[in-house]
Amino acid sequence: MTAAAVRTTCPYCGVGCGILAGRATDGAVTIEGDTEHPANSGRLCSKGAALGETLSLDDRLLHPLVDGERAGWDAALDLVASRFSGAIEQYGPDSVAFYVSGQLLTEDYYVANKLMKGYIGSANIDTNSRLCMASSVAGHRRAFGSDTVPGAYEDLELADLVVLVGSNLAWCHPVLYQRLLAARDKRGTRIVVIDPRRTSTCEHADLHLPLASGTDVALFNGLLAHLGGASLDHGYIEAHTNGLQPALEAARKVTPVEAARITGLDRRDIAAFYKLFETTPRTVTVYSQGVNQSSAGTDKVNAIINCHLATGRIGKPGMGPFSVTGQPNAMGGREVGGLANMLAAHMDLDNAGHRRIVQEFWGSPRVADKPGLKAVDLFRAVGDGRIKALWIMGTNPADSMPEADTVRAALEACPFVAVSDIVRHTDTTAYAHVLLPSAAWGEKEGTVTNSERRISRQRAFLPSPGEARPDWWQLAEVGKRMGFAQAFAYDGPSGVFAEHARLSAAGNNGTRDFDIGAYGSLNQAQYEGLAPFQWPAPAAGTVRQQRFFAQGGFFTPDRRARFAPTPYRPPATTTTTDYPLILNTGRMRDQWHTMTRTGKSPRLMAQFGEPHAEINPRDAAAYAIGPAGLATVSTEHGSVVVRALITDRQPQGAVFLPMHWTAQLSSLARAGSLVGGALDPVSGQPELKHTPATIAPFAADWYGYAVGRHRPARPVADYWALARTRNGWRTELAGAKQPDDWQAVLQALAGGGFDQPPDVVTFTDAGSRRQRLALFNGNQLIAALFTSPEPVQAARDYLAGALDQAFETPQQRYGLLAARPPVGQPDPGACLCACLGVGRNQILAAIGRNRRADAEAIGRETGAGTGCGSCRAEIAALVEANLQAGA
Ligand code: SF4
Repeated sequence: MTAAAVRTTCPYCGVGCGILAGRATDGAVTIEGDTEHPANSGRLCSKGAALGETLSLDDRLLHPLVDGERAGWDAALDLVASRFSGAIEQYGPDSVAFYVSGQLLTEDYYVANKLMKGYIGSANIDTNSRLCMASSVAGHRRAFGSDTVPGAYEDLELADLVVLVGSNLAWCHPVLYQRLLAARDKRGTRIVVIDPRRTSTCEHADLHLPLASGTDVALFNGLLAHLGGASLDHGYIEAHTNGLQPALEAARKVTPVEAARITGLDRRDIAAFYKLFETTPRTVTVYSQGVNQSSAGTDKVNAIINCHLATGRIGKPGMGPFSVTGQPNAMGGREVGGLANMLAAHMDLDNAGHRRIVQEFWGSPRVADKPGLKAVDLFRAVGDGRIKALWIMGTNPADSMPEADTVRAALEACPFVAVSDIVRHTDTTAYAHVLLPSAAWGEKEGTVTNSERRISRQRAFLPSPGEARPDWWQLAEVGKRMGFAQAFAYDGPSGVFAEHARLSAAGNNGTRDFDIGAYGSLNQAQYEGLAPFQWPAPAAGTVRQQRFFAQGGFFTPDRRARFAPTPYRPPATTTTTDYPLILNTGRMRDQWHTMTRTGKSPRLMAQFGEPHAEINPRDAAAYAIGPAGLATVSTEHGSVVVRALITDRQPQGAVFLPMHWTAQLSSLARAGSLVGGALDPVSGQPELKHTPATIAPFAADWYGYAVGRHRPARPVADYWALARTRNGWRTELAGAKQPDDWQAVLQALAGGGFDQPPDVVTFTDAGSRRQRLALFNGNQLIAALFTSPEPVQAARDYLAGALDQAFETPQQRYGLLAARPPVGQPDPGACLCACLGVGRNQILAAIGRNRRADAEAIGRETGAGTGCGSCRAEIAALVEANLQAGA
């Protein structure tokens, strides 16, 4: 790395990898994994490694806007402050709300929470982390009396058994998954995956339990009942817990026969899992969105924790329940009280003593004394007019919330909406009265906390463009303008962090888990040099601990853990004759949230360049959906049209839809518009993984594939999806009726702006109704369009790459219309390994050359899978398919 490299942290998932980011004199950005960061020791996944490709300023929000017109910061902030103050004066503090994000840094989050709970006097601040891990928070607090993750990443390396529940760790937390696989190679760790889908994570599993959606509680109740026979740790239970008997009684209602009936699993597989758990003291159970995003999410968490408490397997090396968070700073948000039902520093809103500590520490005129509105209810309150002023920061609820179309309508109707974002055009910024330009990753200073309670610095290595400013500054300025100048007179994020640290220690004395008092007097230089550390970190002189609860010491009034009875409940909604399938939503390997950043990286867009749904082959046959055809996926809340990916990884009776696509990049693919608002009654987390649905073929008369140098205006087609390529854009298209003028369609896709009329090259096969058209400016391809009455067969990556080539002769130009590379020029195929840029055809060719090769050998030959490793499962599947074809 260059001398200018800056130590910072990845802004994507909760693994929290360290990054060395550098900027050369020509402005080029270099990104490398930080070998000294304890979370990743230099590893990065495809998303982290591609961060340098996401930093361009196109579509950045660079100046404050009021009603779409450029405004100065003072005018914009004055307006936000006056609209909030006006609403509070007329309707009271609960008439305003903040909806914030796990993307915010802890310092941003702290100031937002202080302003809302301490000065406005309402708890109406909630976060998109509500959609991610609120059930884990609720489960922790119910069992431990605090929101404590007891273990550390190292435990996955020290365990003999790792149980992954509702977690596609290989795609969603790839570096942690690679740590697990490396440990497995050394010590033979057994891996059990509990997930309805056969995800990439199953590739290395010793046992995959494809349980029926939403039945995890039944499986873990059965496990607790099984353990209750003879495998309890009576010493731990008696010394450190309460409530085993009621929990056991609830669990015993699930007999082995019932467990198999409810989960749909083979009894022998269930028995094998129970035996493995029972006989393996060093067991870690990792859980993520498949557990949390459920109307029984909190019970799922507690059913898992019950099994660990009952065996005393908690807080010891290689043992414990382990929640992995989706977002980079979900944990930091929890620490500052960024959820509507929490106070700052892991204190309780409903505890008068805690409220007093916080109010005295802040010196605030008031402090909220009751929970505020959680995310889904918050937007319902916006919709029915109870919320008069709303400030959204760093998130895109018009897409990511359940009932997303209702959320759009609520935003439309809200009297005042301010949005702080780095992007000018999102599906949410469209509803903003005031748009505030935020500093982006790489431009701001602060801290984040990863899933193992490790606090790391994010550091700036780029100047903020335009008038972009950090979110904490925006909040502090509004606080000052609302009359609280002294409380928000911060001169930088280091002062905010030190205040946050001091509050964590205030009145603590070991009664609360979150204590970073050791950093309460941090000065600017110390903040700049702050190395990653795990909490707790109480003031000097006290022994640091890496784990919690091996010797009890829970944060309940009697310092004992609480077993929670978790009677099994089915999901909130059931299939009907109209909606006989189950819709599951989730992540893709190379994308992040609503693609405002990862969508800028051509290599990250290469895995899936359009929205798709995974459909089991039997369902596809039953609903007449053909390979690569388009499918309408409908629920009672809405419909989307997406490409069908027919795969037996998906269980029969269920459809999987990625959560990432927005109306900015696709015609109709917003997953949130399909999902209802069924909530977990304890955590308020919505059930994003279980919605009754149906599918149907989309009746397309024509399909199209286009490439072009410029981003097309919104295509005139019933179906379209845009993805960036290295030098332009690719567009998938389809329509129910053929256009009259294909050249006009191509001209529109080309985005116009020609210096001179372009040369047009066309080929029409009237018999087969295939059109091929290309526009050239001299020897340069501007745009090309290929249409067909069936899904277009074309070497898509070759055509995207043709934007970089020179077409000197008429033969070369007509040759392009063949839609495949000329003889002698191999087609790498769709990019399968995003880190190394290896295409599917290259891997197939390597397999063809060595039919005995395994995924490792293919990696040695092509490089595929040797980066972050999260494509290895796909490579292994190609190898396996080849073996079976040759058998
Ligand atoms: Fe970023 Fe990937 Fe590390 Fe997650 S695993 S923090 S996305 S580099």
